[in-house]
This record gives sequence, C-alpha cells and structure tokens, in this order.
Amino acid sequence: MEKTTFKKFLQVLDKMEMMEADENRFYESFQRLASDMNIQCTDKECMEGFRFLLNSHNLISYGNTFDLSQPFYVYARSHSNSELEAYSLFEALLQDKRILNTIDLHKDLPFHLLDPLMHYLLRNSILLSHSKIDEKYLNICQWILEDVKKGYNCSYALKTLYTHELYHSVKLIFKNEDKPVISFPRYHQMKKIYSQRGIPQDRECSKELQAFFKDCLFNEFRHRCVLCNIDLPHMLIASHIKPFRDCGYLVEAMDSQNGLLLCRNHDYLFDQGYIAFNDKGQLLISEEIDPARYSLSKDFMLEDTYLSETRKMYLHYHRTHYFKKKD
Ligand SMILES: [Zn+2]
Repeated sequence: MEKTTFKKFLQVLDKMEMMEADENRFYESFQRLASDMNIQCTDKECMEGFRFLLNSHNLISYGNTFDLSQPFYVYARSHSNSELEAYSLFEALLQDKRILNTIDLHKDLPFHLLDPLMHYLLRNSILLSHSKIDEKYLNICQWILEDVKKGYNCSYALKTLYTHELYHSVKLIFKNEDKPVISFPRYHQMKKIYSQRGIPQDRECSKELQAFFKDCLFNEFRHRCVLCNIDLPHMLIASHIKPFRDCGYLVEAMDSQNGLLLCRNHDYLFDQGYIAFNDKGQLLISEEIDPARYSLSKDFMLEDTYLSETRKMYLHYHRTHYFKKKD
C-alpha cells in the first residue's frame, strides 16, 4: 500500500467512533465511512492496514472496540516528508515491546522484526540514512524512546512537535504568558521546539489540540470514568486537572497527563474542587458534600499506571489551588 493511501486509511479509522471488533463488520463499516469521506481504499488495502496496525500494537483493543495509537493519530495528520511524520513513525515503531526493549539508536534498525509495511514507511521517511537513524535526528529519537519507556501513550517530544506544527505559522493573540508552567523535566528542550508562551486568547483556536487531548484520554482510560466506570461516550468529559484557563504554555493545555477521563457528575465535582487526589492517588472528598450521595469513597485509589510524575504535579496544583478545605 502506498504511503498516501495508508494515511487516508488512518484518517478513516480515526473517524470511526466505535470500531467493530468483528473483522467482517469492521470492513463493512470502514468502507461505508470511507465512501462518505470520498476516500478510495480497496478491501485488500484495508485488510493489510488493519492487520499491520494490530501486529505492530498500534491498534489497541479493549473489550469489543479498538483505538488507534497516538503516534499514528499524529502521523495521519503530518505533512509528507516532514520531521513530524518521521518522529511519529519512529514512536509508532516503539509500540512493539520487542523493538522497544532491544533497539539501539546507534546501530542498524532491526528490520527482520518489522512488518513489510513498517519497513516501507521507514524507508519513505526522512529519518533514515542507510539502515540507521540519521545523526541529526538522534537527540529527539532518544527523548521519544525514554518517554515511551516511561509508559506515556504519547511522548512529550511528539506533543511539542505537533503543537509547533499546528501553531508556528498561525498569527494568534496569546494570553497567560506570565503564568507559571508545570516544571516539565524537558521544558528547556520543549521551548526550543515551540517557544511561544501562553495559550490562545480564543479557546476555539486550540480545537485540534483539544481533540488530541480528548483522544489521548479516551484511549488511556479505556473510555470509562475513572471513578465510577460509566462508559457512555456522551457522558464522558476529558477533564483538565490544571484548568485550561490557568495554563501558561500550550503543551500544558493539550497534555493528557494534565487530564482525567470523568463522567459529567464527577467532572463537575473535580472542577469545582469538591474532590481531589493526593500524591498516592487517594481520593480526597471535601467536607462540604456527602460522599454517599455521589457514589464516592475515600478508599478509592487511582491506579498506579495513571500516576506519572507529571500527572502528580498537575494533581498537586489542583489540590493546592482548588480543593475546598474547611478553614
Ligand atoms: Zn463518574
């Protein structure tokens, strides 16, 4: 399958709200949507793409649905032969644990482990010189590798590059340039990629990044409210931990580590500071509400996998600025 066809295939896949787990039904609904979007993809190409994504761990299956990985979400939106395309492809490559655990950036890539389509896509990116990653891309590839090893479903390198891609050439009015920013371990490096401080005055201008934020959270929290497991999509909110209005840098506003997936009820309680989480992930409930009425228990703990170092920093911010304590 050609690279441009593969990107179109990803765009259709990304638009499918709930993917069918059954393969035959999947192809049927895929073709229906593809024809609505005026995209041509033969059944053979569709099958090749679907199998490739599953085998490379870029289609995440849970229950009876699938989600596209974040790196391929970005790849589908990147320009041909751009750095964003190359780095998102590299991050997609690392979704396969066999590669993640054995890759050596200074040696040839393990082509024998790769699906022919991944092999072809890498050859058709600007990342490679011969069989190795080109020296000039090594620093950012190293950063991506470290972030994926930490368990982030999208590296900070890719988040910053995507932000840059969307906004570096757009003239916008920014606010919050002086507001403090969460101390990202690589903030200095992020600023080199995307230097603009603050967030757009008009929130509408960041809607692509908000869509990305939401997609990351639905994926990470497996389409359920983290507190009550409600799973009706229209009842779920991609909730900011440090509120959007307080963010001092656009990457904070689109960073899924600065988010929790909550149902409408729990989103409101969290947003208004009736609930918060401590550093161990334990639920804190304000004395202003009766926990039983809101199906809340102070024994509730966020799973460890959700407690990354940066998410803990955002939770600390929320707790100190918004949690309603009795004076
Ligand atoms: Zn809930």
